[in-house]
Amino acid sequence: MAFQDKNLACAECGNQFVFTASEQEFFASKGYTNEPKRCPSCREARRARDGGSRTQRQFYSATCARCGGVAQVPFQPRGDKPVYCSDCFSLVRAQSGPSGGSGYR
Ligand SMILES: [Zn+2]
Ligand SMILES: [Zn+2]
Repeated sequence: MAFQDKNLACAECGNQFVFTASEQEFFASKGYTNEPKRCPSCREARRARDGGSRTQRQFYSATCARCGGVAQVPFQPRGDKPVYCSDCFSLVRAQSGPSGGSGYR
């Protein structure tokens, strides 16, 4: 089946945008039967908004160097520093004093 470029109206801003033949083919290959409701720029803006809150605070899972439990840390563990879970981190920090290098952030 041949696809043809199609003009659609964006549900968000009302602008006309082209639902191109190749996009239609892509949609069809994915099994989508509905047409896009938003123009590319509104889709982009929407994705940026959604992604913004999701990537705001990324946590990584690591193994706590003290208790061996799962530690959730706000940075990518590099292996050159011990990683602690939040419980152990406060214990370790209390032991090493306020001036001891934390490496937590
Ligand atoms: Zn739009
Ligand atoms: Zn721990």
